[in-house]
Amino acid sequence: MKVIIIGGGPVSCLAAIRLRTRGHEVRVYERGMNPLSTRPGRGNSFNLTLTERGLRSLPLALRDSVYRAGVELPQRVIHHKDGSLTYQPYGVTTGQHLLSIPRNSLHRLLLAEAKAAGAQFYFDHECFGADPRNATAQFVSCGKVIVETADLLIGCDGANSTVRHEISRRGGRLDIRQFFIPHGYVELTMPPDDRGLHSLLHALRDPMVPESSSHGLHVWPREDFMLLAQPNRDQTYTATLFMPLRSDIQGQPSIEMLRGSAGVVHFFEKHLPDSLAFLPELDTAFFAGRASALRTIACDPFHHGRTVLLGDAAHTLVPFYGQGINCSFEDVQVLMSSLEQADDRGGAIDDVPSVLARFTQERSEPVKAITELSLANLRELSAHTDSKEFHARNRLELK
Ligand code: FAD
Repeated sequence: MKVIIIGGGPVSCLAAIRLRTRGHEVRVYERGMNPLSTRPGRGNSFNLTLTERGLRSLPLALRDSVYRAGVELPQRVIHHKDGSLTYQPYGVTTGQHLLSIPRNSLHRLLLAEAKAAGAQFYFDHECFGADPRNATAQFVSCGKVIVETADLLIGCDGANSTVRHEISRRGGRLDIRQFFIPHGYVELTMPPDDRGLHSLLHALRDPMVPESSSHGLHVWPREDFMLLAQPNRDQTYTATLFMPLRSDIQGQPSIEMLRGSAGVVHFFEKHLPDSLAFLPELDTAFFAGRASALRTIACDPFHHGRTVLLGDAAHTLVPFYGQGINCSFEDVQVLMSSLEQADDRGGAIDDVPSVLARFTQERSEPVKAITELSLANLRELSAHTDSKEFHARNRLELK
């Protein structure tokens, strides 16, 4: 079977690997340049936390490489307003954890694996049109138009998906809902430091935390906003400030309000003082990148004819539950299982439209649930994790 994938992000690469394993011909069209031949930049440099949901969708050898590039996080480390720290383990049995990995590193690992598996990648090819019923797509590259038809067309082209737009415009009866939340985010890097956050954990013993657990997802919950920091292999931390982009009510903290560099440092001194030691260049770093908005995009169905949407093209989640890529990897797993069953019956090519209809049927409810949970977890992380009741409840449950 011939498959065209639009977009060459992490979800597309995993789909390409899985399709190649079954011997399908795979062509991936990406509008950007090849990340393997350029130095990793700042764009999309935030860390992803992989959970069991996402990790079990990866082939075993790849999972090992991902573990080697990531850092296991067995717990949250809560930085309270009074400067105290508390720990919230992610599981009740030893060994349960999230895996934190920079998005760029994960993407490069998956891309290298997809190429090695024989998927053909065409960079600098932007898709501008598609006929979803017939799995045909049109691209522009270096001023030339290219048209390509396959047995299956997969839209992995992210939140602003062209393929989704084409499905909706060409009779796919697609319901699409998008809404922005007030919060946006700013990425910051904490450089390596002898006094790094993980050394704080070594210094402070907690009977609930296993001796070997020196890492965690650091959270500074401050009700209307929060700072998160995730450790990397090179002893740096990737930090993200989540906060409303604008102040609708005067005096309400917002990213817009922290305009002057003095304003940012003063704000951190007041609300996040114990983070300042790890952000020596805060006054410049805060303005180095653009503040980004956050939104939810939900659509239904996920398919039309011989075309299906996977990953952020099908469902863009807010990041507070850390499930965007995990849910997307699960999409790949579910689609591959259905295709494999059709293959085993000897009819994957003819069966494509009904395989895709089953995919929508199977994914609709889980995706709706994870979309809602992701929105609800903003409150959980930014407010509830700070409460003494939360900590007490967690301790009780663990006993
Ligand atoms: P993308 O990564 O957006 O890739 C889409 C690709 O398609 C891009 O390469 C783009 O260039 C290409 N493309 C777009 N249009 C075209 C076109 N017309 N023609 C050709 N190519 C095109 N998820 C988690 O599971 N855990 C986390 O901890 C987590 N943290 C996050 C933190 C933040 C701040 C954010 C914003 C998101 C987070 N996510 C997290 C979500 C996760 O990043 C996304 O779910 C994931 O990156 C989606 O991957 P994708 O391949 O579907 O889309």
